[in-house]
Amino acid sequence: MQTSRDQTSTQFIGKGGCVCGSVQYTIHGAPLFRAFCHCETCQAYNQADYGDILVMRSGSVALEPETSIDFQFHQWPPVLSRGKCADCGGVAVEKISLPLFPKLIVIPAQTLRSQERAPAPAFHMFCHRRVSEIEDNLPRHTGYLNSQWAFTSAVLRGLR
Ligand SMILES: [Zn+2]
Ligand SMILES: [Zn+2]
Repeated sequence: MQTSRDQTSTQFIGKGGCVCGSVQYTIHGAPLFRAFCHCETCQAYNQADYGDILVMRSGSVALEPETSIDFQFHQWPPVLSRGKCADCGGVAVEKISLPLFPKLIVIPAQTLRSQERAPAPAFHMFCHRRVSEIEDNLPRHTGYLNSQWAFTSAVLRGLR
């Protein structure tokens, strides 16, 4: 279990976990941002047309217990590992290590028990890979580099 000492870390956002309940987490601390990701790894990981992700500091999320998660490394973003429950194989949490950034954790929105306190999605990325359209007026980022930049700049804004 990790704890973060910054002021935002006391804000309770929610609890969640995998379908079978072996992986559980509690979020204390405002997410840096939430976005829709249409990349192919999100599609495969979520077994859905896109990922709806909340990105936050690792220290804002307490995992109980972390040992029940199988992590697999993928190439996007630079160092991303996607965790699935070792028991049910369901979506759990993802970890991101970007050079020079604090460690980040990605919560797939569908694993939250309640989205009441979660922020609304801010943008779409990897739209060149989209398989279905979501009707909204959010900014849409297309192309690998544009999408990477949208992600990185949203992290930077969130960390400020
Ligand atoms: Zn499970
Ligand atoms: Zn993605």
